[in-house]
Amino acid sequence: MSATMRAAVLYGAEEVRIEAVPIPSVGPGEVRVRIGCALTCGTDAKVFRRGYHARMIRPPAVFGHEFAGVVETVGDGVTSCAVGDRVVAANSAPCGDCFYCRVGQPELCEDLLFLNGAYAEYITVPARIAACNLHRVPAALPLRHAALTEPLACCVKGVEDTGVQAGDTVVVLGLGPIGLMMVSLCAARDARVIAVGRRELRLATARALGAEEVLDENALADLNAAVHALTGGRGADRMIECVGRPEVWQTALELTRRGGVCNLFGGCPAGTTISLDTTRLHYEELTVLGSFHHTPRHIRQALDLLAAGTVPGARFVNDEVTLDGVVDALQRMGEKTNLIKAAVLLAGET
Ligand SMILES: [Zn+2]
Ligand SMILES: [Zn+2]
Repeated sequence: MSATMRAAVLYGAEEVRIEAVPIPSVGPGEVRVRIGCALTCGTDAKVFRRGYHARMIRPPAVFGHEFAGVVETVGDGVTSCAVGDRVVAANSAPCGDCFYCRVGQPELCEDLLFLNGAYAEYITVPARIAACNLHRVPAALPLRHAALTEPLACCVKGVEDTGVQAGDTVVVLGLGPIGLMMVSLCAARDARVIAVGRRELRLATARALGAEEVLDENALADLNAAVHALTGGRGADRMIECVGRPEVWQTALELTRRGGVCNLFGGCPAGTTISLDTTRLHYEELTVLGSFHHTPRHIRQALDLLAAGTVPGARFVNDEVTLDGVVDALQRMGEKTNLIKAAVLLAGET
């Protein structure tokens, strides 16, 4: 085996180079995976524009965090998989030992270990992730769909945090890959989903994933009136905001009914704020919450949902590129295009 591999390296804002870099070594407890397929992600597109992410990645670093592939080498002591296994791994793992891990909020772990490097031929999964967040992929599930496990796990947690029940009217605001996953998960819980977004392909996908109503923001004069007209004048029982802009958070609060639950799921730029109407919060018993990241339990659940076909992976991966096409694909991500997620084809089975 050659000592180098091709990889997409993030250097700064709008600066990603495809280079030869050393193949990462394998230590005790670690697993080196030959990546079959990586996926582009809205977070990567954001990081590409900004050039860094305070917690996830500091350049220069091999970019990308959603991937699945085949185990190529295992370090001493690895029991979760063997050479030749098809696997998927999460992009992080909690320490299991800090205050937050001990009180059952491992997503807030004080020492969350992040893994980047999916846009490359090989990746070495650190021991901590290999031990709790690396799983064999069922034979019938294509690697490119298994690679959806991580973003889907964030959504599984989000839907759980929101308390979505059968019969609830849930408004999903924003139809990027995350919003579309929320639609699929809420519909699977037999909620009535009203999906709000832009572009025909995204709206049609939301409908195919089980949304009962789809609202095209570009064609609407008054979103508030449209949502209230579909909810007996009340607003959403449960709201899931999937855009991540303060003005959209504000809209999400307005579209939630008295006594309802509003999950402000989309991460906004650091330092931004919103204002809360005290009357709505107190006299109207509005519950407002945020959901961040995933936990090992949600990673397992997400993989199971993909394997069972409850969440149909094919709906979320609608383009493919080679490693040389990663930058172009990241530039095409966003609400204004038809690209949901691109499969970055690396090697062998994808
Ligand atoms: Zn992602
Ligand atoms: Zn911890």
